[in-house]
Amino acid sequence: MAKVQLPVQKNQIIEVTFEDLTHDGNGVAKVDGYPLFIANGLPGERAKVKVTKLNKGYGFAKILEIYEKSRYRVIPECPIYEECGGCQLQHLSYEGQLIAKEKQVSDVMQRIGKIENVTIHPVLGMESPWRYRNKSQVPIGEREGGLIGGFYRQRTHDIIDMKECLIQVEENDHVLKKVKEICGKYGIKPYDEKSHKGVLRHVMARYGKISGETMIVLITKTAELPNRKKIIAELVATIPNLKSIVQNVNSKRTNVIFGNETKVLWGRETITDSIGEIQFAISARSFYQVNPEQTKVLYEKALEYAGLTGAETVIDAYCGIGTISLFLAQKAKKVYGVEIIPEAIDDARRNAQLNGVENVEFAVGEAEKIIPNWYKQGIEADVLVVDPPRKGCDQALLDTIMQMKPKKVVYVSCNPATLARDLRILEDGGYQTLEVQPVDMFPMTAHVECCSLLVRTDK
Ligand code: SAH
Repeated sequence: MAKVQLPVQKNQIIEVTFEDLTHDGNGVAKVDGYPLFIANGLPGERAKVKVTKLNKGYGFAKILEIYEKSRYRVIPECPIYEECGGCQLQHLSYEGQLIAKEKQVSDVMQRIGKIENVTIHPVLGMESPWRYRNKSQVPIGEREGGLIGGFYRQRTHDIIDMKECLIQVEENDHVLKKVKEICGKYGIKPYDEKSHKGVLRHVMARYGKISGETMIVLITKTAELPNRKKIIAELVATIPNLKSIVQNVNSKRTNVIFGNETKVLWGRETITDSIGEIQFAISARSFYQVNPEQTKVLYEKALEYAGLTGAETVIDAYCGIGTISLFLAQKAKKVYGVEIIPEAIDDARRNAQLNGVENVEFAVGEAEKIIPNWYKQGIEADVLVVDPPRKGCDQALLDTIMQMKPKKVVYVSCNPATLARDLRILEDGGYQTLEVQPVDMFPMTAHVECCSLLVRTDK
């Protein structure tokens, strides 16, 4: 077989112009149509780069010098941005981030979805794109006798001690600082992956932005936490509005953070928070959106697209702890939610009760199995909402939607590429995509969330 001749060689130094950003925030430059992915490059910039790795269809390079900078380039605010890897776009101004995310969505709609006549709205961003995350979860290590905690250096398990995280609420930074200090003072040893010894593995802090309530979760290797009483007393004395201290025991040799045993050390089992009118009780293991402010924006858009009058039957597929279901139930006749994780459905039912919502019903199982069953039993939706994980909707679910023919489908997605793929399938099955509204749930990172409205063309 003839070897394919690539337009560049490894270690070659060349000059390139960046054309685009990938979905994970790398710059893209092309040499005779051959794409090179290059960290830190921004669209429009010209740079001298060195080719580092070549594959058949694409390669990698690194920047040696930027000749012409983008007008959207800024100096990253965070001192550990380059090492940390938690954010990917701090070198791009927030205005530039929103433009890039809109382009990312409209590109995949054309390239993957081949969707025509769709309105793609500008990204709904945050007024202040910092300090938005309500949950912090970091591994614990040790340096010169003291405890450290923070993210791993990219592609390693070396912990970078984090004093503050600029996308995290300040309350959580404070919790992490105090846990390190207090546990260090009482001789708690960090868990060591190599020897499989030590006590404290991870610390999670969760803050209810509306309620102001704080939860601390200590994830330990051992069931016992030495000096437990003293540690609890000091945490309670120093953390304002602390409502819950929980210990989770994970004694396994694993990268998975949580173990199966969870016990309340002090206070309540849950903290509460609210999105709009709906209250949520959040336990240590519950999934809860990390940016509640933008979640409200996203769900309000979903509610607007659903266009409910009070007479509709709605299905919420991939419903998690029932967040969207409860939002929709305020305006629908009946909402059916389905989700694969049993604990999430426990939370969903509890949250329905907490809010006195009676017109929802939740089921545990795969959306692609439960919804066809419902359909056989005569449950048909006027509006069907999906909010699948990154891989998108299962084909069997899309098939059922096309049989059931709900008048409207509201597709909430955290991955524009699989969204575009699924919209194409639904368009071929009798739907038209009218609008796509991207929402910036994760400023400074490369992620973008979308809410889209599809209607049946034959109704
Ligand atoms: N709508 C929720 C959660 C969306 S995340 C919210 O906004 O909070 C996607 C959810 O889909 C996760 O909770 C995941 O557990 C669930 N899930 C994944 N595969 C599934 C499947 N095949 N059927 C049903 N739920 C699934």
